[in-house]
Amino acid sequence: MAIYVVMLGAPGAGKGTQAQLLSQQSDLPHISSGDIFRENLKKKTELGVLASEYMNKGELVPDDVTIAMIKERLTRKDCQNGAVLDGFPRTVAQAKALDDMLAEIDGKVDVVPYIKVEPEILIERLTGRWTCREHGHIFHEKYNPPKEPGICDIDGSELYQREDDKEETVRNRIQVYMEQTAPLIDYYQAAGVLKMIEGDQEIDQVTKDLMAVIPLND
Ligand code: AMP
Repeated sequence: MAIYVVMLGAPGAGKGTQAQLLSQQSDLPHISSGDIFRENLKKKTELGVLASEYMNKGELVPDDVTIAMIKERLTRKDCQNGAVLDGFPRTVAQAKALDDMLAEIDGKVDVVPYIKVEPEILIERLTGRWTCREHGHIFHEKYNPPKEPGICDIDGSELYQREDDKEETVRNRIQVYMEQTAPLIDYYQAAGVLKMIEGDQEIDQVTKDLMAVIPLND
């Protein structure tokens, strides 16, 4: 049976870091909507240029564009055993669209780990974050520093600070999260799939707590 995991949490809660680790340990592909937009922007595709207008302000890319992009991604062969979704869905409309697209392939959202972190911590987490240019691996100057400053431990590529990790944009992203994405906590709670994970712990401990709620096939 395929397993679909939706990582939920505010920007800076650690969803991306944990989604990468979960993907490595489970062999499920890591699908980050933000990474797909950034790759498109790097290649200067129409989608990337459109998305960047929203991303740079910390706003959400419109639902129709985002839903179509994820739908296409989920039909690729590497998703036949499921996927770890990170950053999608971000609105109730996206969550409903995801339920519909999975129903078409006899799947469903199996588990939604919600990584909970107090809002005060998020700003420090995001403004100190460094991201790898090649594959989006995530580091933090204080909490998860790379062995060599400015270089990704995993693939040796350059680390950079995302344009939208600047403080003013970060504040808007958190606001947008509270208004548009936080309602998904109730949505998935009602569906019986939400699992709360304490996010204000060492990265390894968060990973352990996360792995404990994922129903992996052995
Ligand atoms: P992330 O890398 O998940 O923090 O996403 C970076 C930015 O990409 C967000 O601030 C949005 O502008 C855009 N984005 C990513 N995922 C979505 C989504 N599911 N819906 C709308 N916009 C998104």
